Amino acid sequence: MKKQLEILIQMQKFDTVIGEKNILTRELPQQLNSLKQSLKDADEAAAATKSELDENLKDQKLKELDIADNNAKSDKYKNQLLTIETNKEYKALNSEINHLEKVNSEIDDELIGLMEVESELKERLEEEKKSQKKASDELKANEEKLEKEIQEVRKDIEDLKGKRNVLAIELPRDLIRRYAALIKNKNRKAVTFNDNNACSACGYTIRPQVAIDIKEAESVIYCESCGRILVAHL
Ligand SMILES: [Zn+2]
Repeated sequence: MKKQLEILIQMQKFDTVIGEKNILTRELPQQLNSLKQSLKDADEAAAATKSELDENLKDQKLKELDIADNNAKSDKYKNQLLTIETNKEYKALNSEINHLEKVNSEIDDELIGLMEVESELKERLEEEKKSQKKASDELKANEEKLEKEIQEVRKDIEDLKGKRNVLAIELPRDLIRRYAALIKNKNRKAVTFNDNNACSACGYTIRPQVAIDIKEAESVIYCESCGRILVAHL
């Protein structure tokens, strides 16, 4: 029986390391995804600002065209003024010219507003390009390393499981099943030690008779509280 208990202790050592590595198989891909997500976010932010900037420049062009159109019209009217004969016509044309100038002055104000926004957008885009570069550099620096680590951890887990399973061959099937159930349900801890007459996993006090049984190791002893396999320190 002592031999079986020693095997269980060894299996637990493997399962403890497997548990730690299982955490890594979740954390490492998360790290990688978060680097990828940062780059994606930075790309999207820069693309959105770029399209806002393009729109702004397009608006500015349209407004400049409007101003040019109005100026052309106004020039034409001014020339017509020279050939006008009646006072009424003169007044009408003059009022049209004034109107066009007023419209142009409004468009000018709008253009100034657009140019202010343009310069803000350009500054923002510069910052976003820096973030993009930073995110891209960080991903480049870590992607390969993380992917390699993920592969290694997965392989380590397979190796450890292999070693644990080889040990298990020497145990009776019902004990393997009980051990496996404890690993599954008890936070990957199936084997616990008598630590100064307390279970090292749950802290439950071990009765003197049970402590003797553990020491004699004639049978598998389970913690009366948490149900884990209790063994003496080797
Ligand atoms: Zn316990």
